[in-house]
Amino acid sequence: MPLLFFLLILIILAIFIVTAIFGRLWCGWTCPQTVFLHAVFNKIEKLILGPYTKRVIFFNSDESFSKKIKTLWVYLIFFFICWGLAHSLVAYFLGAHAVRSAILDGPTQHLTVFLPLMLMTVALFLNFTFFREKLCFYVCPYGRFQNALLDINSLGVYYDARRGEPRGKLGPAQLEKKGSCVDCFRCVSVCPTKIDIREGFQLECIACGKCIDACDEVMVKTKQPKGLLKYETANLQPVNLKRFRLALYTVLFLIFSGGLAWSLNERAALVINISRAPQNSFSVRIENNKKIYQNQIVIHLKNESSVAQSIAIELDANSIAKSFQLISPATQLVLGAGEEIRAIAFITNSEEESAQSGQEIKIIFKSNLNTIEQSIRFIGID
Ligand code: SF4
Ligand code: SF4
Repeated sequence: MPLLFFLLILIILAIFIVTAIFGRLWCGWTCPQTVFLHAVFNKIEKLILGPYTKRVIFFNSDESFSKKIKTLWVYLIFFFICWGLAHSLVAYFLGAHAVRSAILDGPTQHLTVFLPLMLMTVALFLNFTFFREKLCFYVCPYGRFQNALLDINSLGVYYDARRGEPRGKLGPAQLEKKGSCVDCFRCVSVCPTKIDIREGFQLECIACGKCIDACDEVMVKTKQPKGLLKYETANLQPVNLKRFRLALYTVLFLIFSGGLAWSLNERAALVINISRAPQNSFSVRIENNKKIYQNQIVIHLKNESSVAQSIAIELDANSIAKSFQLISPATQLVLGAGEEIRAIAFITNSEEESAQSGQEIKIIFKSNLNTIEQSIRFIGID
């Protein structure tokens, strides 16, 4: 838990730092939603239905048989990809082996795997087919936080209005106005979130830079300098790294990095959990006309290190001196990296004067990496 806590805080702080400097770089270039939508789904749509303007005409056209067939074709491919994605996501958590067995045994045998798979496939299909960028606007918490994370020193995509205005279509009228923007709307048509960046910075902008490329092409064609749309700061100055918010985020990042290093250092290579057996945790048996008082316990061991550990389990000298004994088939064992074991063990005592309830028994776990001591109270004669 401490590891997870520090790791999550560090990820959040890293996002704050990157956003304060580079703007929505994550959204436009690395977010799986953007990457899959633009690198996979949009590409397929473009391949089958043509470029954006053709697609708009296609979707707004009257219903026809060929329109239905083409749409169905696109949806089928989308569904198949989402189905593959869902399998890969579930396999990431359960393991590929578990997913393969679930497929081979059939859905009725593994409803707990099959239902999440189907739900995820449908959710991904609806998202990538219909919801799309709306997820960035209405669902993604990072998108909603942009107001607080960005300032005028953060990089973003901006329109140089001083150079572009007054805008106008190519022709004598535009030449008279002398604004560089030829009002071709290329920047709007390529924009995945369909905003007009010329109206100023908008939170819907995911900084993908498509409008910059499109506008540069227009500038080349109209024999004007590139850079009417640019990736720059709102105040048109070089990025200022000496900012209070950046200093604060960095200090917090260093503090929490220290916390992560500390919790990594403190992390036990061997996780030990001793509990009483749910049944027969205390019993008395007769052996050679002598009463033997015994406690049944369960020892759970997990090797959290990346190497195998040979483990010896024994009682401490004080407990042995009081005639306590540890009986278990697992007093000597080897646990591979990441392996765990749950073993039954008995703590016994045949001496009435020492087999009293409440005695503290210390169990020592000696491994090639470290030695750990754990205690348990004996249940015996009251
Ligand atoms: S692509 Fe460039 S020239 Fe065309 S409308 Fe957009 S900003 Fe103006
Ligand atoms: S305005 Fe430009 S950078 Fe922003 S989302 Fe649209 S195309 Fe991408």
